[in-house]
Amino acid sequence: MSGLHIPIGTPDGSRTEHAENLLAPNPSAMTLDGTNTWVIGGDEVVVIDPGPEDESHLRRVRDHLGERRVTEILLTHGHFDHSGGARRFAEMVGAPVRALDPRHRLGEEGLADGDVVSVAGLEIHVYGTPGHSFDSLCFWLPQDRAMLTGDTVLGRGTTIIARDGGLADYLRSLDRLRAAAEGLEARALLPGHGPVLPDPIAALDGYIAHRRQRLDQIRAARAPGARTPREIVKIVYADVDRSLWAAAEMSVVAQLDYLDRL
Ligand SMILES: [Zn+2]
Repeated sequence: MSGLHIPIGTPDGSRTEHAENLLAPNPSAMTLDGTNTWVIGGDEVVVIDPGPEDESHLRRVRDHLGERRVTEILLTHGHFDHSGGARRFAEMVGAPVRALDPRHRLGEEGLADGDVVSVAGLEIHVYGTPGHSFDSLCFWLPQDRAMLTGDTVLGRGTTIIARDGGLADYLRSLDRLRAAAEGLEARALLPGHGPVLPDPIAALDGYIAHRRQRLDQIRAARAPGARTPREIVKIVYADVDRSLWAAAEMSVVAQLDYLDRL
């Protein structure tokens, strides 16, 4: 795609024609290289996910923008690694914060499925994609044919179902994104963590297959008798680094909850 740039080694500086990533310095097992702060627009911009409350990162984003005015700050969801710096950044640039969850807004306007945000002659279409969290949104950039996915789809590995999310919703959201990616001929997924994914359909098919496979594994692990989520983690996530087992346990709880409701 014209304008698609994926740097080697770090997501910092990844871009499509009208979207650019400034990586926050908060790497961890959960956040991969750190949180991606996406800047969308031209002579005016929208900033998506200012990241954690990290003064050096927020200043870097502001300085990078130079004279370009920030019209709005949008959040893909309310988790702290995406939203923690929003209030401070809003103060720095004098822009409102829009999010699905009213607790994360600053200003009058919310943000919900079907909304269209305009900036510098571009459109940003809002997709409600609950699952990773109850308030997860994705943003479609028709001009770049790119979908910003927040933590619904990551640039590497798989995401978790957080305590405020749900697997049934998550599976529906993946199916919806898959259909959108196909119908809209998406050319890139721009995730909340990790590198840009240049093959949206393959990435989404991989996510959907992975979820089904995990559910099958959990069904099988559970079959011999009632087991605690921790016992299931030890069996099903044996190949996953131990530092992620607490997160895996959250995902197992979400999957057991889902299976129990079928
Ligand atoms: Zn995150």
